[in-house]
Amino acid sequence: MHIGIIGGGQLGQMLGFAARDLGMRCTFIDPSPNPPAAVCGQVIHAPFDDHDALSTLATDCDVVTYEFENVPVEALESISDRVPIYPPPDSLRLAQDRLTEKQLFDRLDIPLPAYRPVDSINDLENAAKAMGLPLVLKTRRLGYDGKGQFIVRDRADLETAWRQLGESDLIAEEWVDFDFEVSAIGARNATGEFITYPLTQNEHVDGILRISRAPLDDESLTQRAGKIMAALLESLDYVGVLALELFVVGDRLLANELAPRVHNSGHWSIEGAVPSQFTSHLIAISNGHLEAPRVRGYAGMLNLIGEIPAAAHNLPGSHLHDYGKDSRPGRKLGHITVIADSAVERDRLLAEIGEKTG
Ligand code: AMP
Repeated sequence: MHIGIIGGGQLGQMLGFAARDLGMRCTFIDPSPNPPAAVCGQVIHAPFDDHDALSTLATDCDVVTYEFENVPVEALESISDRVPIYPPPDSLRLAQDRLTEKQLFDRLDIPLPAYRPVDSINDLENAAKAMGLPLVLKTRRLGYDGKGQFIVRDRADLETAWRQLGESDLIAEEWVDFDFEVSAIGARNATGEFITYPLTQNEHVDGILRISRAPLDDESLTQRAGKIMAALLESLDYVGVLALELFVVGDRLLANELAPRVHNSGHWSIEGAVPSQFTSHLIAISNGHLEAPRVRGYAGMLNLIGEIPAAAHNLPGSHLHDYGKDSRPGRKLGHITVIADSAVERDRLLAEIGEKTG
């Protein structure tokens, strides 16, 4: 089986390693000269929407997938009559726009924070009146890791937020004073078989994921998130791994954001579950049989952002993943995973690693 992957970043790299263990091979499209995925497959160095590069994937590969959300949907559609593309381009289109994403949650009766489309300063003022302050103003498209967002704390911020975020195609969201954040990860194949991973609890710093812990020991939340995931996979006729980020407020679970791809909050599954999210994605898109993940103990994952400190290399009992990227402030360069027999021990290890890696 030959997998074409659009994007050669760390998610592509981790897909590539999982593919190797399944006896599959990968070809990536990525414009950068030495992307992380170059260590585990052939790279076609070209823009993601390059016609010839896409055509090569369509000719050579059995299935094409992508590892990041901002792939132009038209690029996928230009080869969709020649090779299966999973997750379906329609799901990608929907997830690229926060408004259509929220409308899907509404259609499926999935609880979510109050929101309003904002296309004028007047819309924003009305949103502030209706929802109160603070509120979060977000761009509908191309936001990631907290970019393209403005927390409007008082009325004086309205004008600045409106201008800073580009004066159109925005969405205002109720500010959610959540207890904590979780993500649900599921996978479905083309025959409709699906699996879900245990809920993962996530901590963000400055909008960037810092720590994930799994499984979350909460049967009620896990069951409800599982039902939400099943409804999404089914309604999208989805194929591949899907991630959903949610807020937990008291006993309420509110949907925040979908990612139609393998997800940073599922990296713990490389060591912490069999199969990992990467293996499940590859099995799903090649229409293999999806196995329910068996979890190995309590996993903790810590992202290494901006630099990989020397101390990260010699931590006993932990698994370092160095993506091989150049250092840059705010950039995800690697992660460390620990597996323990109890949540308490896992948290102790995470705290120790956090201290040593600064
Ligand atoms: P997002 O890009 O929508 O996933 O937002 C990035 C992070 O910002 C989330 O993981 C939350 O920590 C925070 N955030 C986003 N939306 C809200 C909201 N409506 N209320 C409170 N915090 C939010």
